[in-house]
Amino acid sequence: MKPETVGIIGGGASGMAAAIAAARCGDRVILLEKQNQLGKKVSVSGNGRCNLLNSRPPVYYGDPAFAREVLGGDPAAESIAFWQGLGLRIRFDTEGRGYPCTFLAATVLDVLKAELCRLRVDLRTGTEAADLRPEAEGARIILSDGTELHADRVILSTGGAAQPRLGGNESAKPWLERLGHPMIPVRPALVPLTAEKKAISGLSGLRVKCGVAMETEAGVLLHREQGEMLFTDTGVSGICVMQCARFLPDHERAILRVDFLRDLYDSQEELTDDLARRARLFPAENPPALLRGLCAGKLAYAVCKQAGLPLRGETSAQLTRDQLKRVAGALRDYRIPLTGTEGPERAQVTAGGADCRFFRPENMESRLYPRLHATGELLNVDGDCGGYNLMFAFLSGIRAGANGRQEGNQ
Ligand SMILES: Cc1cc2nc3c(=O)[nH]c(=O)nc-3n(C[C@H](O)[C@H](O)[C@H](O)COP(=O)(O)OP(=O)(O)OC[C@H]3O[C@@H](n4cnc5c(N)ncnc54)[C@H](O)[C@@H]3O)c2cc1C
Repeated sequence: MKPETVGIIGGGASGMAAAIAAARCGDRVILLEKQNQLGKKVSVSGNGRCNLLNSRPPVYYGDPAFAREVLGGDPAAESIAFWQGLGLRIRFDTEGRGYPCTFLAATVLDVLKAELCRLRVDLRTGTEAADLRPEAEGARIILSDGTELHADRVILSTGGAAQPRLGGNESAKPWLERLGHPMIPVRPALVPLTAEKKAISGLSGLRVKCGVAMETEAGVLLHREQGEMLFTDTGVSGICVMQCARFLPDHERAILRVDFLRDLYDSQEELTDDLARRARLFPAENPPALLRGLCAGKLAYAVCKQAGLPLRGETSAQLTRDQLKRVAGALRDYRIPLTGTEGPERAQVTAGGADCRFFRPENMESRLYPRLHATGELLNVDGDCGGYNLMFAFLSGIRAGANGRQEGNQ
């Protein structure tokens, strides 16, 4: 294959990987990024620590079969090899999450930028692609300042719609639709949930380890998770809650059922017995004191409130077995009526995007329009928290840039 001019629209995770792979194969690469710096999402990912990959079995939604084909047999090993080729050492935590050994996203950007410079990629930050016009051989990219450039191949790496302030948008949607590519509507996937005030009042800032089950009001299970949950001013957040978001129905109310004491008691009966024992330990105190040492003070109040107990004016000793059972019920099945999500502005990732059936997993090329490729979150693939989204972004970018060739090291 003779070297070509490759135009890459989007200088985020997948666009930078595509640029490196294409340039290593000898292509002339122009990387267009509308913001004033490359990889703004990479720089804030993982709370600035940048969770780059995950060595556990991949967890993807949207089109998981396509994601698996793109990622190949051992995506973690391939990712590590890519990063080592840039000099970056990876450290894993006990959950299989891979980070730069410095735990700094800036280190990831450093090695990517150094390689882009070494390969003489034509980096054009502050440059927005406004339109794309297919030509007999490749396409013409129209820039927002009215100038144009021709590319023999174009790689669309414009990302998803999450966090517009970091570059999230759907700019490639009209271009792809015009070429006949179906688009799956985007929606926030990893995002905090909003909830009715009553169930969360007084709890803002509290972190708990718990199990959660999200159900419709009619009791149909939508998703189950476990892990850390954070109460916010408007609802709930934390990894286990954000991973529920993509299953939230559009037109039906849902409830989050929270088990605050997961694995601590074998049965409700055992928990109720323990509460009775506690009532004997602290007989003269208010009912929430029953839960001292079992959960945070402000949660004790909320649990007793949900269980319908008087919070003051009655002592623990006066509580009936039935009331203790209700407290046990609220501790193991605290109900938070949900009202929606915090929206794309607060999302880490959006689900939906270009229908993957119209792209080839080996090089991300359009089946409808040869020489046009799409990568990363622009496609209908989204992963769980834990490094899956960046791993897909980087590896899909490499596939598109290499375009079926063996990477050299120009
Ligand atoms: C706060 C936060 C934390 C995250 N943490 C993690 C994490 O720890 N691990 C993980 O795996 N994932 C994480 N993610 C998700 C991950 O960052 C994204 O899934 C990934 O960056 C997607 O890569 P991409 O290349 O598809 O898109 P992006 O990285 O979003 O890059 C797209 C780029 O295209 C540019 N662009 C768009 N349109 C145009 C245009 N018309 N012209 C020129 N440029 C354009 C944008 O400005 C942007 O820079 C996080 C996301 C956020 C927001």
